Amino acid sequence: MKKIITGFALLLLGCVASAQNNNYARAKALVSKMTLEEKVSLLVGRGMKLPGMSNAGNAGNGTGVGQTMDKVEGAAGTTNGISRLAIPLTVVADGPAGLRIEPVRKNDSRTYYATAWPVATLLASTWDTKLVKQVGEAMGNEVKEYGVDVLLGPGLNIHRDPLGGRNFEYYSEDPLVSGKMTAAMVNGIQSNGVGVSIKHFALNNQETNRNTVNTIVSERAMREIYLKGFQIAVKESNPWTVMSSYNKLNGVYTSESYDLLTTILRKEWGFKGLVMTDWFGGKDAVAQMKAGNDLLMPGTPQQTQAILDAVKSGQLDVKIIDENATRMVAYALQTPAAANYKFSNKPNLLAHAAIARAAAAAGMVLLKNEAAALPMSRQVKNIAAFGNTAYDFVSGGTGSGDVNEAYTISLVQGLTNAGYRLDESLKQSYTEYIDEEKRKHPRKSFFEEFMNPTPRAAEMNIAAELFTKMAKESDIALITIGRNAGEGSDRKVENDFNLTEAETALIGNVSHAFHAVGKKVVVVLNVGGVVEVVSWRDKVDAILLAWQPGM
Ligand code: BGC
Repeated sequence: MKKIITGFALLLLGCVASAQNNNYARAKALVSKMTLEEKVSLLVGRGMKLPGMSNAGNAGNGTGVGQTMDKVEGAAGTTNGISRLAIPLTVVADGPAGLRIEPVRKNDSRTYYATAWPVATLLASTWDTKLVKQVGEAMGNEVKEYGVDVLLGPGLNIHRDPLGGRNFEYYSEDPLVSGKMTAAMVNGIQSNGVGVSIKHFALNNQETNRNTVNTIVSERAMREIYLKGFQIAVKESNPWTVMSSYNKLNGVYTSESYDLLTTILRKEWGFKGLVMTDWFGGKDAVAQMKAGNDLLMPGTPQQTQAILDAVKSGQLDVKIIDENATRMVAYALQTPAAANYKFSNKPNLLAHAAIARAAAAAGMVLLKNEAAALPMSRQVKNIAAFGNTAYDFVSGGTGSGDVNEAYTISLVQGLTNAGYRLDESLKQSYTEYIDEEKRKHPRKSFFEEFMNPTPRAAEMNIAAELFTKMAKESDIALITIGRNAGEGSDRKVENDFNLTEAETALIGNVSHAFHAVGKKVVVVLNVGGVVEVVSWRDKVDAILLAWQPGM
């Protein structure tokens, strides 16, 4: 049976590959009919507007990454088409935890919310590639039904730095887990007839100085650890596109590295798809073309000009442009845009929320569970929930890996829905405190938040005598410790990896009061990366690593 299935899977991959070959032949014929200007226009995206940047392209009046207003509002980018040859504009949008587009649009009463899925690290913690594929199928359906052609994910950089700001977007520190999870996700998403961009290729291990950092690595470590997951994903799932990374690799920008993008990715691994840059990644458009980085995103008029000038001066062989343009056209021909797909703008969000809910539970990890503290016994009816994030749950990380979901069910809301009684006075104090903190830091635009992230609210102060009262009145204590991070900066050791003084005191006070009356204490970690547990784990009965579990 296994053999038959494997044979069938190979046949399927064969069909996909031969469809790609057919497209390639058609694409080649189309490219032969193009002017140089037309070919080059395909290799540079339609741009986006950023604050302080004029004339960045044609994509309209967006205000930051993930903000173009072209075709699908809030998508990260749009590629050019050539209407006389029926080559469509295509739309690419973030990201690894779900489709990131503008949820509300001017003069439009409909909404465009997407499902916020559990973050990649949680999904990898399920060890369940079938489930990850199922998540991918549903995620890809939203991509297709909202009129997007390529999802800019999944991300599979290795968790080299435990404090990497984007670790939540990536699966694991382990190359095999990363590769297998990516392949499952890609097979799920692409089963809808939309594409992915596996990212960031490669060795994008930190956010600090991400556009200039030079990652120095030996050949062996590179191949065994940092490239392995990408190699597995290319072999087992045929991703439509790969996104090169921002960093340099042994002195050369990855998007300008022929060795990486052509010798290894295409010649050694047999990758047939398209390579696009990360947004504004690399420096030299001509070197990028020569390296086999077909598409420059989001695209600037300066890049178009540089490529045209280089071809005209003989510095860039037009054969390279032909080759890159052919791959670009072959890509465009396989998109829903080429088939003029009539998207509904109505994915089944309710059904997808149920899949997200099941996946979230499957990926949570019980780090400690003494005296059967979890699952909570039937005697537990009244719960005292401590910690800001119990009331203001972190569904996923920030930056382009964030999703515009319609709602997030907080821990206390979920417990209430499940029939538990939450201590009302505690709930009221936390809710008021969190609202007050939010008023102090009004919501910023994507770009402002990127440049200057809002600090996490300090843990609310609780008067000492209240702990004894809560312990008397409640059956169990839950303490939620929350963390968030994302694009643009890495995490810190103090007050981030390590707990803050207030958090440590909270765990101490709650444990002391509840244990004094024989009641249990459970800590829920609502985090996108690691936190220190050794100094406090002996004080509590159970620790649930809930990750950032999506909406
Ligand atoms: C991120 C990519 C993302 C792109 C488009 C970049 O800043 O590094 O992961 O896909 O923006 O939003």
